[in-house]
Amino acid sequence: MDYTATALNHDPSTLVDAKIQAMLPEAISLLRRLVATNSINPLFPGIRREDVIGGETACGAMLADHLSRFGFASETVAHDPERKNTVMRKSGTGGGRSLFINGHVDTVAPFRPSEWLDGNPWSATIKDGRLYGLGSTDMKSGLVAAALAASALDAAGVRLKGELQIHAVVGEETMSHELGTSSVLDAGFGGDAAIVVEPTSQPRPLSVTAVSAGNFNLQIDVKGYGTHSGNRGPSIRAGGEGNAAGVNAVEKAMLVVQALQQLEQEWGITKSHPAFPAGIFSMVPGVFHGDAGVPSVGYLAESATVGYLVWYPPNERPAAIRAEIENHVHHASQLDSWLRHNPPVFRWESHWPVFDTSTDHPLIQSLVADRADVLGALPAGLAQTHSFNAVCDASFIAEKGIPVAAMGPGDLRCAHAVNEFVQLTEVSDCARILARTMMRWCGVA
Ligand SMILES: [Zn+2]
Repeated sequence: MDYTATALNHDPSTLVDAKIQAMLPEAISLLRRLVATNSINPLFPGIRREDVIGGETACGAMLADHLSRFGFASETVAHDPERKNTVMRKSGTGGGRSLFINGHVDTVAPFRPSEWLDGNPWSATIKDGRLYGLGSTDMKSGLVAAALAASALDAAGVRLKGELQIHAVVGEETMSHELGTSSVLDAGFGGDAAIVVEPTSQPRPLSVTAVSAGNFNLQIDVKGYGTHSGNRGPSIRAGGEGNAAGVNAVEKAMLVVQALQQLEQEWGITKSHPAFPAGIFSMVPGVFHGDAGVPSVGYLAESATVGYLVWYPPNERPAAIRAEIENHVHHASQLDSWLRHNPPVFRWESHWPVFDTSTDHPLIQSLVADRADVLGALPAGLAQTHSFNAVCDASFIAEKGIPVAAMGPGDLRCAHAVNEFVQLTEVSDCARILARTMMRWCGVA
């Protein structure tokens, strides 16, 4: 390893590893307190703000309090005064590159809460080497791994040349980056590179992740002509009055769904990216609603809406994706006598951009080497970096032109699910990788 160590004339990682091992119980107790704190995102669907407000801020304060013992000063950035982002920072001795670690403290609402271990999503129970609870995987354990790495470096007497920051942000689970990650960066915090400690469990724990797909929330509204259901015959059968008798928006929206299924199939052939398995770029119709303005089957529906999640590849421009979808539906609509004159209306509700850091970037190369150092080299022929099969705040860091990677403990399959857990060995393994990359990237004084 190239640490250009002067004060330490040996590889400090052995000593740092020993400190991580010794300090692990304290880190686990911090993680238990964080998981036991309800920090559901107050904007999450179905949640009342007054029931959960303050949890995010409390989690940030716990981390800041812990790190204050290891030379970290803390500041808060709050777009919403009751939802504070916490920035913990320790300046370097000078002459090194700076680095920041990003993790969100908000969680989703618990899925089927009564079915959780001990009937409590905030139990923070430890069983068989796993810590259970909401936010354990997604992603309080990532923040604790970063804090463990930083405190072990301090305890081992390692001084970094470049500044190290840890950002505990709010709002990720509702894409409220303007309240969280982006507001912290806009306030002037940040660094020369960033690591987001989301659970990168696929295809194996603590995978080094350099890229994620982008997604859109797309709502398509289709108009009908709502009339009594008895008009169905004359509206669709030969010899009837056709559209003048009524138009069922539900069935017109089905034409849109079919058109997009066809385009999706084409995407399976035309859209690819080396970091993603075939067929991942897709259009998922997740919500379908239509009626005549009353919840009754006695009508031809007056309007219908289909809600889509559209996953597109990192190597395509979002504007081109939007145009491709709208053009395809437009052309399909020309084949229908109603849709031709009553075109579907597109509402592009939200956009989560991609992040796509070159696998040759020294940050990615450092993480790959440090992961191999801690967990052993991957067999020859296997990819060393992977894609994140979800979205995260790395996208909004990349939008600021900052090179970013994702790597963190936890299992994405149990995030947003019953009995979310984190394997505790992954927390210390992650801390060991992060500590190495902190030293390699920032330089050791
Ligand atoms: Zn997350």
